[in-house]
Amino acid sequence: MHILLIEDDDRVAAALRPALHRHGMSTTRLDHGRGAVDRLDGVDVVLLDLGLPDIDGMDVCRAIREVSEVPVLVVTARGEVDDRILGLHSGADDYLVKPYDIGELVARVHAVYRRRRVPGGVGPGSGTGEDSVEVGDVRVDLGRHLVVVAGENVTLTRKEFQVLAMLARADGAVCTRSQIVAEVWGKSWPGANRTLDVHVATLRTKLGRPELVQTVRGVGYRFAADG
Ligand code: CA
Repeated sequence: MHILLIEDDDRVAAALRPALHRHGMSTTRLDHGRGAVDRLDGVDVVLLDLGLPDIDGMDVCRAIREVSEVPVLVVTARGEVDDRILGLHSGADDYLVKPYDIGELVARVHAVYRRRRVPGGVGPGSGTGEDSVEVGDVRVDLGRHLVVVAGENVTLTRKEFQVLAMLARADGAVCTRSQIVAEVWGKSWPGANRTLDVHVATLRTKLGRPELVQTVRGVGYRFAADG
């Protein structure tokens, strides 16, 4: 796995790179944000420090997202909730607050890599049959971010897929609205339940299997894992 490390602090980079290499990763380091989008070839995961000397890390993230689906793991020393949310809104896949444990960093890198969006559904990890949930003719491939209904790929937005994946992983157990909102959006707000309902309605329509995502009145939703 090749990591683009965007980090201006020499000491942090000097500590991080050997640690990542020990975990079987290779790294390219950039000590500024400008031009990051030109360095994405062959990169599997971007580790992005938000506090950069030239441009704001958020803007780097948005610029990357405009040209690439490469997973971006934001690392921030700020630790502000607003910043974390902004990080996710700017297209980041996950965030980590400094100081962090290297083991946790490596785990998060692997997690965002596994969850990455694979254009056309072709890529490493395909065809293993692992990490997917099947109900009738619907297959939710959690590793490849892919949903297949009756042999046809169904295109979902990232949030729609995240909602579906969370329900599928729960294997028929009820996920409460607040759990889903917290997991998928990373925060709650006054209109969150309504937004969730809209996503579920769209999901049902796109899947063409309205019974698959069941409403548990007053609680949340469950995946009809038993068909
Ligand atoms: Ca920095």
